[in-house]
Amino acid sequence: MKILILGGTREARELAQLASGERGFDIVSSLAGRVRDPQLPAGAVRIGGFGGADGLREWLAANEIDAVVDATHPFAAAMSSHAATAATELGLPLLHVRRPGWVESPGDQWIRVPDLAGAADALAGLGERVFLTIGRQGVAAFAGLHRHWFLIRAIDPPEGAVPTRHQLLLARGPFTESEESGLLAEHRIDVLVTKDSGGALTDAKLAAARAAGRPVVVVDRPALPPGGTVVNSAGDAWTWLRRTPSASG
Ligand code: NAP
Repeated sequence: MKILILGGTREARELAQLASGERGFDIVSSLAGRVRDPQLPAGAVRIGGFGGADGLREWLAANEIDAVVDATHPFAAAMSSHAATAATELGLPLLHVRRPGWVESPGDQWIRVPDLAGAADALAGLGERVFLTIGRQGVAAFAGLHRHWFLIRAIDPPEGAVPTRHQLLLARGPFTESEESGLLAEHRIDVLVTKDSGGALTDAKLAAARAAGRPVVVVDRPALPPGGTVVNSAGDAWTWLRRTPSASG
């Protein structure tokens, strides 16, 4: 059974690790090629876009793929949508691997917003010094906020417009709560902005904000496209792959 794993996440790497070397499974992982020094999964890897849903469909057909696993980040909405379109058109089984979103705990002061523009709007009145931990993409949504100062943390430098008053911190998680608390204190942070990425690699900032009594603007996840099966973890994805009909066919 030949499987394409759309990756760029910890879950995608875990699944590639689980499946690599297993008899009857031929896995290829795909990365967008955005970060300069990506964490590579086990087994075969291809890097770069496919050219939209049509390009993906052609690639799937040319490579005789039997099933598609969309293990992209919860905010990689375009790739998930293309995967759904191409898999549906070819009649291929499709699995989305989505780690659970973060859940508010007692003491948290979260403001949930539907998108990055909503997060920028929500910052009015929440303090001047902002810890922006949304990754490299989407920072431009905050570029018009001239009265705020931003600590922007990302793995690679942001693309496009950035806020006038900012400091860039290039770093890759995981981060500990004490490191995050240290950053909040050192930069006198008033408010955090994060996507609801979920997972344990980057959730220490939420505990640090709770401990410091700081509000967090949390951007909700985009909806998944219709169709396909959804699981929460690499382990469940591996179970699905072993049970999916093409595996025996
Ligand atoms: P996106 O907005 O959904 O995708 C934009 C385009 O990038 C897609 O149309 C596709 O190009 C290409 N692409 C995305 N994921 C790909 C993959 N795994 N393999 C090949 N091409 C891919 O995605 P994104 O938000 O830019 O995320 C890009 C990658 O970074 C994904 O692999 C994702 O898992 C990872 N990531 C994203 C975030 C985030 O916050 N968005 C955070 C951590 C990791 P074509 O149309 O040319 O095929």
